[in-house]
Amino acid sequence: MVKSNFMEVNFKALSINEGFARICVAGFCVQLNPSIDELNDIKTAVSEAVTNCVVHAYPKQGGIINMRCEIEGDSIKIVIKDFGVGIKDIEKAREPFFTTKPSEERSGMGFAVMESFMDSVEVSKNEEGGTTVTMYKQVISALQVGNA
Ligand code: ATP
Ligand code: MG
Repeated sequence: MVKSNFMEVNFKALSINEGFARICVAGFCVQLNPSIDELNDIKTAVSEAVTNCVVHAYPKQGGIINMRCEIEGDSIKIVIKDFGVGIKDIEKAREPFFTTKPSEERSGMGFAVMESFMDSVEVSKNEEGGTTVTMYKQVISALQVGNA
């Protein structure tokens, strides 16, 4: 039987919630029986996406981050959405080393990190404003357990 499951949470765009988001996704992903490496990859990608919402989306604190995770078979889809200022040029923003906040010691590597740790990353503008990042990853350990 193909596994199918989801969870969704809303939380305030505060840096204190970055750790919460990581743990939340990791806890949900455990049912796929990921390896430690796979779990760390997912947590790192989630951190980068959530940090971007906290740092860039809301110039004034207090916006909302919506995070949804879906499991379909052996894959996880993670959607991280904000309702903030949005990204002017998404293609440019995704380039390694591109940052609009060099003065704050940002390295412009967040999207590159997400891409390297996940199978695919999509970035889009919301009609109502803000940004949605959608990431996918197949959990190989889940496959191995399923075949055992
Ligand atoms: P680093 O992640 O290395 O600390 P960074 O956040 O600047 O630096 P990226 O995560 O790659 O680098 O993001 C690139 C740029 O895209 C950011 O500088 C910012 O201008 C823009 N950006 C990313 N996410 C958002 C978002 N959710 N809302 C508005 N702008 C964003
Ligand atoms: Mg970033």
